[in-house]
Order: sequence, then C-alpha cells, then structure tokens
Amino acid sequence: MRISVDRDKCQGLGMCEAMAHEFFEVDDDEIMHILEDSPAEEHRTKVHAAVEACPVLALTLTG
Ligand code: SF4
Repeated sequence: MRISVDRDKCQGLGMCEAMAHEFFEVDDDEIMHILEDSPAEEHRTKVHAAVEACPVLALTLTG
C-alpha cells in the first residue's frame, strides 16, 4: 500500500499524526511529512484510520 497527500488540500492540522505518528509528522511550520509512504501490510488498520481522520480528505491510500 502507498500513502499519498494532496498538498493543495493539506492544512497541517495534524489529525493524521495524532492517529499514527510513526507515519506522519507535522513540523513547526505546519508542513506535514509522510515518514514512511509504503507501510508494511501489518500497519494497514492504523494507517487507514489516519487517512480517514483527515478532515480535508488530503490523504489517499492505494494498493
Ligand atoms: S490530517 Fe490532513 S490536513 Fe491535517 S496534516 Fe494530516 S493530511 Fe494534512
């Protein structure tokens, strides 16, 4: 699976980081960084929850 982010939508709100800080990090400038964009399958439930938590639907999970 692969995580992608629509930079035009992301507002650095940090819900994704709150749900799965191993994979998402919002820096001091409110820029979100994907720490691991191809998580192992065992993390799917957690990553999916984080993607679903984004209030502006900026995250997509494929594969
Ligand atoms: S929850 Fe959505 S808007 Fe907030 S930092 Fe994550 S991707 Fe960006």
